[in-house]
Amino acid sequence: MFTGVASRTPVFLIAAVVGAGCTHLSPVAAPVVVKRAQLHMGTLVSITAVASTSDRANGAINAGFAEIKRLEQLLSTWIPESELSSVNASAGKAPVHVSPETVAVVRRSLQVAEMTGGAFNIAIGPAVDAWNVIEVQRIPPNDELEALKARISLGGVHLDEQARTIYLERAGMRIDVGGIGKGYAADQAVATMEKAGAIAGVVALSGDIKAFGQLPGGKKFPVGIQHPRREGEVLLFIDLQDEAISTAGDYERYFDHEGVRYHHILDPATLQPARGCQSVSVIAKDGVWADGLDTGIFVMGPARGMELVERLDDVEAVIVDHEGHVHISSGLVHRVRFPNEPDEKGRPQ
Ligand code: AMP
Ligand code: MG
Repeated sequence: MFTGVASRTPVFLIAAVVGAGCTHLSPVAAPVVVKRAQLHMGTLVSITAVASTSDRANGAINAGFAEIKRLEQLLSTWIPESELSSVNASAGKAPVHVSPETVAVVRRSLQVAEMTGGAFNIAIGPAVDAWNVIEVQRIPPNDELEALKARISLGGVHLDEQARTIYLERAGMRIDVGGIGKGYAADQAVATMEKAGAIAGVVALSGDIKAFGQLPGGKKFPVGIQHPRREGEVLLFIDLQDEAISTAGDYERYFDHEGVRYHHILDPATLQPARGCQSVSVIAKDGVWADGLDTGIFVMGPARGMELVERLDDVEAVIVDHEGHVHISSGLVHRVRFPNEPDEKGRPQ
């Protein structure tokens, strides 16, 4: 998970916050907004905190970054000493004792797998390695992919919550939480920031964004969803408060070969890049659900994916299908703004 390549998922926009440093909003007692960015989990992480003083806001931001760094040490399969790397190294040999956080991510991953009928599958690791679409642009031959199928069965992932162990029953199995870990990290960072005294804020790990509270003046946090085919352009805007948005797109990591786009979200049924969508953005209360579901729904495709969204409480989605048509879930249609629409004060956006 977490490659060293920064993806360019949704643009995160906060009108009131420009660049790093702090903005003192008068009068003197008014809350302060501070925004800073660092590289973690192979991507640009930006954190905004609203607090009573700039010291407190900076303290909350420091706590948020520290939490993300701590989780990366547990969950990244790019770090050989991480807990998940140990789980993978012990595949077919022995269960590995892990922290409550690793248990939580894997438990949620298995739940999302069930909700999406197996479209979301953290055992996909060996196939992700076979494609390795960033480091070398290769198309694995069919027989190579066929041979991997026995190793990507979720039935071979044994999570014992009481004992806090994870066991992969076959040698060569590998779990990869790249499709859900950033959303989980955003949730945990927000909880840490609240404990550190932030009144409100946003944690954005590239396209996995969680917002809590409101900006000074009572505004929600505006977020732009990246247009999947027009780099740097916003498809639509949405305001967030106490919720998360996560986007999975075929434009994040890909290469083109003979007119076909090969990207990093694989369909577990075929082990080929999933073909139904250009991008899927999911809004949910928690980042872990939003992130797991964006990947799973991307694989399910627009029709089955939207059916699932409509069945779930507190989950909304914007799906751009493979032809570029935009599908918006029923609970979201009245909340989105398109870039060429005037804002609520009649100004162009
Ligand atoms: P996201 O950007 O959230 O869609 O996550 C994409 C990442 O999830 C990929 O880079 C892989 O590490 C992993 N992944 C790819 N396909 C799947 C899948 N079908 N289920 C779960 N994780 C996947
Ligand atoms: Mg995801």
